[in-house]
Amino acid sequence: MNRRSTTTPDPRDREENTVAQQPQQSSTTRTPVELTVRPRPGQLTFTAPRRGKPPRHLADFDMAGRREFLAELGHQPFRAGQLSRHYFDRFATAPEDMTDLPAAGREELVSQVLPPLLTTVRSLEADQGDTVKNVHRCFDGATVESVLMRYTHRVTMCISSQAGCGMNCPFCATGQAGLTRNLSTAEMVEQVVQGARMLRGGRVGRAEQEPLRISNIVFMGMGEALANYKASIGAIHRLIDPSPEGLGISARGITMSTVGLVPGIRKFTQEKLPVTLALSLHAPDDELRDELIPINTRWKVDEALDAAYDYYQATGRRVSIEYALIRDINDHGWRADLLGEKLNARGGGWVHVNPIPLNPTPGSKWTASRPGVEQNFVERLRAHGIPTTVRDTRGSDIDGACGQLAATV
Ligand code: SF4
Repeated sequence: MNRRSTTTPDPRDREENTVAQQPQQSSTTRTPVELTVRPRPGQLTFTAPRRGKPPRHLADFDMAGRREFLAELGHQPFRAGQLSRHYFDRFATAPEDMTDLPAAGREELVSQVLPPLLTTVRSLEADQGDTVKNVHRCFDGATVESVLMRYTHRVTMCISSQAGCGMNCPFCATGQAGLTRNLSTAEMVEQVVQGARMLRGGRVGRAEQEPLRISNIVFMGMGEALANYKASIGAIHRLIDPSPEGLGISARGITMSTVGLVPGIRKFTQEKLPVTLALSLHAPDDELRDELIPINTRWKVDEALDAAYDYYQATGRRVSIEYALIRDINDHGWRADLLGEKLNARGGGWVHVNPIPLNPTPGSKWTASRPGVEQNFVERLRAHGIPTTVRDTRGSDIDGACGQLAATV
């Protein structure tokens, strides 16, 4: 059946993703993935280049949508529950593992509803196997990355929301490569399902460790998730909805990261999900932030902090401020004081700061702060009463840490 002639709404069809409008590209010609244009310094890309969409997948829909999807394909709608249990409970996608489905037509049904979306083309390990970075190839050749990090009692997974990123932060490997395209909801969920399958199979960590479930998901891989708004919200629902509708991960274990897309933060606030918001601030003053974070030329530091504070007020979830410490660029004591003052001016107890030693990217002039300077920055913030924790840089030796995801294969 021709998918484009059908009537079931494709949740990816409504282009509400662009929260800040930029002029549309004049050409609608599909651009091969290899021709993603590297942005000029400071150039922002809000609208993903037009490309073919990945095949529709069970995980693109909520349960009602899945029943419609199946009916449209000529199958019994109640199969949605069976297929959902296979995918979200058992992480199964092979027809031979689905013996409760009739043998006749099973292969066709599964290939239509659970088409392969991501092929893992490279896996790299660090931290004695406790950190694993996977590079996935999408249906159109675009590559994205996810990172699994196993700790003593929890597992955090960092996933990508876009292939590339249009925000063009000059210290970030992903941003320098430009925006290839938005990922679909199912492409985001599939990263997590593949990670969960690896954990269940004992392929993350040492053999003697007990298998753990994924407890935390951070949208801190490739891309600005709020610039791919609708698909990212769909992914959050699939992650937190109870089985078999979704993976049943606690919403409190999810972190939505943004570089400061203020209309996106405001829209996200209206969702009233008990999800943590992480704002990548990296500078408390507009003069420097305009240079480090090009989106700041649209929405200034105070606007981003106001939106983050309002998010806290609406959800009760303490906001994380991410601050990559870059040697001699943003690591001055006076900037720690200014940040502390700006956060306190909005209230107490609403925010937590995570300074992050910058992970240098090859050939970049940006590098991490000296340890003494980092410690001074932390102490100055704490002196203002701001809870501050230096974030670890798991995976930095496999380019799996923040600002290093460039999907090299
Ligand atoms: S730091 Fe984040 S928002 Fe900035 S270019 Fe990199 S991935 Fe995009």
